[in-house]
Amino acid sequence: MLSLIRFPRVFTIKQVPKVFHEESIISGYRHPRSSATDCVLSLFQLTNETLNIWTHFVPTWYFLWKLGSVALTQRAWQDAFTWPLLLLLLSCCVYPLASSCAHTFSSMSMRARHICFFFDYGALSFYSLGSAVTYSAYVFPDRWVSGAFHRCYVPIAVLNTVICTGLACYSRLGLPFVHYNYDTMKRFPECNGPRFSKLLRVLAFAYPYLFDNIPLFYRVFLCVGDGCTDNDTNVLHYNHIALAFLTGFLFATHLPERLAPGSFDYIGHSHQLFHVCAILGTYMQIQAVEQDMEARQLWLRDHSIPITFANSVAVGLLCVVLSLAIIGVYTLPLFSRNEEKQRAKSHRETSAPW
Ligand SMILES: [Zn+2]
Repeated sequence: MLSLIRFPRVFTIKQVPKVFHEESIISGYRHPRSSATDCVLSLFQLTNETLNIWTHFVPTWYFLWKLGSVALTQRAWQDAFTWPLLLLLLSCCVYPLASSCAHTFSSMSMRARHICFFFDYGALSFYSLGSAVTYSAYVFPDRWVSGAFHRCYVPIAVLNTVICTGLACYSRLGLPFVHYNYDTMKRFPECNGPRFSKLLRVLAFAYPYLFDNIPLFYRVFLCVGDGCTDNDTNVLHYNHIALAFLTGFLFATHLPERLAPGSFDYIGHSHQLFHVCAILGTYMQIQAVEQDMEARQLWLRDHSIPITFANSVAVGLLCVVLSLAIIGVYTLPLFSRNEEKQRAKSHRETSAPW
């Protein structure tokens, strides 16, 4: 059946606009003005994005199954104690789905590429918040439970999602209307300063990750004596922390393709490995959170801040609304141009190669 389908051709780095370039990836680029159908077809054609798509699309279904099974079997809706876990599981479905959609449709146009990844960043912020809400509910060490830091931890995490989404979107194009608009959507800072842009993006995700993990790092690395919650789950926590650092390392360094540009274009480049490590880390994080939740349930119900709609589900909804608003602000100038400019641009585009 697949042999009857005519797949679109792929291109080298020199044949696509700079905004589509990936560091040390030389070939396997899709057409920078692919149709939606061609983008979907590229799931079944080996391009430099194919495994990026599948490495997040398949796990999405696993996490959806997990969410469904927890929601249906544990009477989750009646028991507020389970809501943070549901929020984390929902965020674990959203971020790989948003990522696989972004990687699928990012070659439709320059504008589509930016918008796709704006949503990808928003989904990662949501995941970061999901982690914070579950850590607050189940992972905080006994010693810190109900303390001053515990009480301001989730509100700060909400603020961090705004910073994370805003900074990550800023890292692509700069400030909307100030640095870019419809006609200059490739100026600042990604094209002029790709390293600065990358640094901002690493910062945008490293900072909320490090903040979210303050109670966990304290619990497993620093705490001594009573109230440290030194239980069997700590091994699982070590595993997902190690995978998170490996994920960040791959994202930041572009290894292994940086050592042999062109050799890992289709299989084995850092972004694919980054996706796989992120998913494995998330899988282990869920296991650890569930185990803590089970083992500490009675103690936490008696001693911790009560879990309510306001500090779990509503916080998740607020994060979604804030992230969508930020994405909207960054997206708007990509569409806004006056009629005169539109006519001039249309005239220029008739002779442009893409
Ligand atoms: Zn990705």
